[in-house]
Amino acid sequence: MFMTIRELLEKQYLEKDDIKQLLATSGEEMQMLFHKAQEVKFSALDNFVHLRGLIEYSNKCRKSCLYCGVRSNNTNIERYTLTDDEVVECAKLSHKLGYGSVAIQSGERSDKAFTDKITTLIKRIKEIDGGSLGITLSLGEQSDEVYREWFEAGAHRYLLRIESSNEDLYYKIHPHDERHDFHKRLACIDSLLSIGYQTGTGVMVGLPFQTIDILADDLIFFRQKDVAMVGMGPFIPHPDTPLYKYADQIPPVQERMDMTLKMIATLRLMMPEINMVAATANQTIDPMGREKAIMAGANVIMPNLTPNEYREDYLIYPDKACVSDKPEECFSCLDIRMKAIGHKILYNAWGDSVAFTKKKAKSER
Ligand code: SAM
Ligand code: SF4
Repeated sequence: MFMTIRELLEKQYLEKDDIKQLLATSGEEMQMLFHKAQEVKFSALDNFVHLRGLIEYSNKCRKSCLYCGVRSNNTNIERYTLTDDEVVECAKLSHKLGYGSVAIQSGERSDKAFTDKITTLIKRIKEIDGGSLGITLSLGEQSDEVYREWFEAGAHRYLLRIESSNEDLYYKIHPHDERHDFHKRLACIDSLLSIGYQTGTGVMVGLPFQTIDILADDLIFFRQKDVAMVGMGPFIPHPDTPLYKYADQIPPVQERMDMTLKMIATLRLMMPEINMVAATANQTIDPMGREKAIMAGANVIMPNLTPNEYREDYLIYPDKACVSDKPEECFSCLDIRMKAIGHKILYNAWGDSVAFTKKKAKSER
């Protein structure tokens, strides 16, 4: 049954057809969607924005995702790994700037030298000011044991995007082999959830072969998994990757931006209390992209703290925003930008997912 946008925006539970209708909005109807998502976010989470100081630990990766500039087959970048002291310095800076949390992201490695190193780093970060920094990891697919070891060392949030919840599309954007296995990725998300991480997932928006039907299923997937956090950003074709050959067949920049915002806004209606990241990719394709994502329902920003000399080599996509900014510049710029759109950065707090905290409290009753 066809519903007007006003009726749809008041519905308590969105069915797949409702979601598709919202994702197909444009012009005034799209603005109504954004406005409603903002209203829902304010009533569930207030106007707070949480920060995670982003540490891009290493661009060494054992995988070859067909979209990513860091893929192992790309020989046009220099590979680096931060030293332990560099990581700890970044974490100390995050603490000093009042960000409250760090997020460690990296190319995927599963060898013991790497997993042990991460355990050591988590413990060292936990030593800063009596464990006052929250720790999010985004280090790809690992065994249950490794996820558990890192959790016990002190990490409490983990981001692992499913990239697409549609298996056919997944294999169009990844090689089809044992290192890029859709079911393994799903199993990793389940493992993170069962260990007790605040688990985040997400997708890229505007991929070749992606349809509104698939995007609606992605949002339903997040709801079914009952995840605590979601990160969605526009796909940005990288010239040194195989998917670049479709660059002229994907939606233009403005459409990819709008669709990303509609995905964020629709998900905010479906899951009012989760944390949602305003991805750097938004800002890369639109100078106001981060603000737009926040105004469409996102509530987390990850300012980059990676030492500047390494950033050029962590270009998962070209022209990444803020590559040359100094952390202190980012700090004051962000505060001003968030105030300008009626939001308030919550400093010196972990900024945990309210959805997760409530679910946990309920299960412990
Ligand atoms: N290696 C880990 C993983 O894959 O989960 C974490 C780092 S990976 C670089 C972080 C995210 O970057 C991926 O989940 C993917 O969605 C995003 N990404 C990679 N290439 C991209 C591109 N060309 N455009 C937009 N996002 C991209
Ligand atoms: Fe490696 Fe992650 Fe890039 Fe895939 S998306 S190539 S796993 S860094």
